[in-house]
Amino acid sequence: MKNIKNKQIKCPICKNYFNKDLKTNPFCSQRCSHIDLGNWLGEKYKIASDNDDYDNQYDIDK
Ligand SMILES: [Zn+2]
Repeated sequence: MKNIKNKQIKCPICKNYFNKDLKTNPFCSQRCSHIDLGNWLGEKYKIASDNDDYDNQYDIDK
């Protein structure tokens, strides 16, 4: 069976090819999955701090 060769997918973080049966799928490694998570948390932090600013202004206005 040649299909085994097609089990390679591309990691969205480091662009390396890896076996898609890996536990860390869709990332090639835990490191890349952590990088992706970090990106998400970074976005959330930005939104959260914006909300904090809004709340503070609201409190001052009162
Ligand atoms: Zn990777």
